[in-house]
Amino acid sequence: MPDNSRLQMESTELLRTLIRNACVNSGDPASGQEVRTVDALEDYFAGSGLGCERYEAAPGRTSLITRIEGRDPSAPTLLLMGHTDVVPVSPAGWQRDPFGAEIDDGIVWGRGAADMLNITATMAVAMRHLVLDGFRPRGTLIYLAAADEEAFGTYGVRYLMERHPEAIKTDYVVTEGGGVPVPTRSGLKYSLAVGEKGCNWRRLIVRGTPGHGSLPYGSDNALVTAAEVVRRIATYRPRTTILDVWRRYVASLEVEPSLAAGLVDPERVLETASRMEVRGFARLAHACTHTTFSPNIAHGGQKVNVVPDRVELDIDIRALPGVSPKDVDAMLADAMGDLGARVEVEAPCADEGSISSFETPLADALSRATAALVPGSQVVPRMMAGATDARYFRWKGVTAYGFALHSPRIPHSEYSLMYHGTNERVDVESLGLTARLWDALCRDLLG
Ligand SMILES: [Zn+2]
Repeated sequence: MPDNSRLQMESTELLRTLIRNACVNSGDPASGQEVRTVDALEDYFAGSGLGCERYEAAPGRTSLITRIEGRDPSAPTLLLMGHTDVVPVSPAGWQRDPFGAEIDDGIVWGRGAADMLNITATMAVAMRHLVLDGFRPRGTLIYLAAADEEAFGTYGVRYLMERHPEAIKTDYVVTEGGGVPVPTRSGLKYSLAVGEKGCNWRRLIVRGTPGHGSLPYGSDNALVTAAEVVRRIATYRPRTTILDVWRRYVASLEVEPSLAAGLVDPERVLETASRMEVRGFARLAHACTHTTFSPNIAHGGQKVNVVPDRVELDIDIRALPGVSPKDVDAMLADAMGDLGARVEVEAPCADEGSISSFETPLADALSRATAALVPGSQVVPRMMAGATDARYFRWKGVTAYGFALHSPRIPHSEYSLMYHGTNERVDVESLGLTARLWDALCRDLLG
């Protein structure tokens, strides 16, 4: 059995190292440089008996795999997966140095503290302690520290899937996306991310006719057309869909019956969610019951005295599981109406959503481990609005979840502000709990 204070201490120190490594992924292929964190992890594993495999998809874009081989080749395999890159910061809103990894009153501050270096670090610590403890599981246990999650996994999981599928062949995956407790009447509810929406980015090229800016009357101004296209997309109301996973999540919140009924009624979900006091709940409810359209970038015009003939609009569309990229294009055409004829649509990204069943041995094992570590708590399924590397596995039929085990010290409503936002932080108790969770999960599921 693990020494709990050691797990917590090592997780904290390893997390601080990973934060300081600042593997910032801007989307530029030369950014990230996750090799720094691969070096740190290899140093951490040194002497434990774990062998490390390195996979370099491009210079500095390295991922690391280590494994404890199972005794029984027919037993299921579990992959613990963390990413090592982080998104850039806007330092202005931070109360601490985003890459200083300061620790104050039991809280570690820094970019990646919650997304998701905390999990990457605690998984590594659990791996090392399991092997030092002589753990010889029935099924194989794999640890993957993946590069480039924050830019589609091109140099991380997608590269491994395409070039080294045997290295990450598994039955079960656990990664980021859940584990923040929500207090309810009957105790803490820990959400397990069982699925996520499909990322669909569309570039709309709006054309017009160039002319002199001093003679605008009757001109065919691409910017004016684009403004109307943006307005139509922003006000488009796609169909409301109540998925089973949303229904179950709402039931787990134990809110009063009239609210609970409203939250699963397609006609009333948004109005009901707006009455909930929890910050950000209406946005979550909207995202979990709709395919969403967010016009986020506009480029157009060249000179103030020239009527523009071309404007590019980038729309971030997130499709519910079951909504195909073709369905997305049909909805977009519906939103634009007659203006669609004047718009050329490109699809830089057209992904299906993905969802795993909640009725699996992995969910059962996570639920048992959680109930043992946080008595009275319960694990409940939830869908994520954002995307993670889990999708690559779900598309192949592998059960993949996002989870961790946070203490209630940082209120759950704070987390949505921290992911890709400011003042990202985690308490050390959560790090200890999460490391113990992985230890208990591996012993339970792989035996
Ligand atoms: Zn992440």
